[in-house]
Amino acid sequence: MPNDKKLHIALFPWLAFGHMIPYLELAKLIAQKGHRISFISTPRNIDRLPKLPHNLAPLIDLVMLPLPHVDNLPDNAEATSDVPLDKVPYLKKAYDALQDSMTQFLQDSKPDWVLYDFVPYWLPGIARKLGIPNAFFSIFIAATLSYIGPKAYFSERKNPEDYASPPKWVPFPTTVACRFFEVMKIFNGGITSEESNVTDFYRFVEVMDGCDIMVVRSCMELEPEWLQLLEDLHRKPVIPVGQLPTTVHDSRDNETETWLWMKEWLDKQAKSSVVYVAFGSEAKPTQEELTEIALGLEQSKVPFFWVLRTRCGTVDTGLIELPEGFEERTKGQGVVCTSWAPQLKILAHDSVGGFLTHSGWSSVVEALQFERPLIILTFYADQGINAKLLEEKHIGYLIPRNEQDGSFTRDSVAKSLRLVIVEEEGKMYRDKAKEMKGLFGDKKSQDKYLDSFLDYLRTHRRLQN
Ligand code: UDP
Repeated sequence: MPNDKKLHIALFPWLAFGHMIPYLELAKLIAQKGHRISFISTPRNIDRLPKLPHNLAPLIDLVMLPLPHVDNLPDNAEATSDVPLDKVPYLKKAYDALQDSMTQFLQDSKPDWVLYDFVPYWLPGIARKLGIPNAFFSIFIAATLSYIGPKAYFSERKNPEDYASPPKWVPFPTTVACRFFEVMKIFNGGITSEESNVTDFYRFVEVMDGCDIMVVRSCMELEPEWLQLLEDLHRKPVIPVGQLPTTVHDSRDNETETWLWMKEWLDKQAKSSVVYVAFGSEAKPTQEELTEIALGLEQSKVPFFWVLRTRCGTVDTGLIELPEGFEERTKGQGVVCTSWAPQLKILAHDSVGGFLTHSGWSSVVEALQFERPLIILTFYADQGINAKLLEEKHIGYLIPRNEQDGSFTRDSVAKSLRLVIVEEEGKMYRDKAKEMKGLFGDKKSQDKYLDSFLDYLRTHRRLQN
């Protein structure tokens, strides 16, 4: 079969915008090369995806699989941002119930490849049975995947303590590991304690074990040692596909109106003076953390733009309050936005001089594609590993905190912000962020990774249709 025949690739992301957006970026890049994509999600998610460019829309088929009903999941909840954290396991349960419709889809459409996320641990087996080459496309970096480790070691780590240091299979010296308080959040936060006993760690090891190849949202220049380790651990091809810089701007209904007042405020600020504060689509600080963040911002005197969502979709996740008099006192200094914000547009604005982030990987990529230095405050999941990798490579600055319980003070927030954004002493962070644009926002480098990835898919496609 000639190698230049166009491919049909099915993409099946997890139901979180931090996952769907990079999957969509990959879809667009692949379609730009003339290949056909089936992008599979649930109806509500497909409806609220950013609009596709006209020239690519005919090549990207948006496939809607209705989400089966499960108890305890609110109506209309189809993404993690629609529900509080303790309901996410029910969303996973509903997602697992897509098994039959996904099988039917693959049987009917017979794509050349299917790429899936870490959640559908049942999919590699189905793809293999149907003879469809398949890949785990990870929006998590190789350091996170290596840290989780291969199936052979899965049963060795039972207690939280087992996860709070670099695992024994990492053959080089490193500081990259979850901190104790992050591990405790993973164990106690309801993220892994599902009714079915299917934990997130289990899902990861199953997809890594079952897939034909791993495709990782990363690049050799950032983490060569971790990409190599991942390949050594799993003895299968690990293909970095580049950082997939975000190109979509928020397309939600209120975008124009919301952006107008934001832009007006940002336009009034001095160049590179503002700290943009946001913790992604899921993380929400506790009351105690929120108070320290707020008072730290105030104390720093740095102009701030803070996205602080207190609701998840239609579900109120419990009221958290800003410190008394905070908004009055900081009136000339900053603004608090309580709705979804067009993050990419904000980060692209000239007045932004730093990003106080949870280090979700999309936020990291988006900041560095616009050369914004990172001040990092993690909450859970892969954020701790991302943060430690960025710290080890001198790319981001972690707010100092108690390693056991994760507590931090307003003082450390204020000092960290001033260091990275204002003071001469922190210039290295600003310089490093500029340097990183080449890895995180460079079209040529992205194209190089995409081409070798597509070459692999082309030479290893299914033989019969
Ligand atoms: N995002 C946004 N507006 C918001 C919150 C989040 O545009 O108010 C986008 C953000 O630009 C990024 C994604 O949602 O593309 C969040 O992904 P990330 O990996 O940073 O964090 P997660 O939500 O997965 O924790």
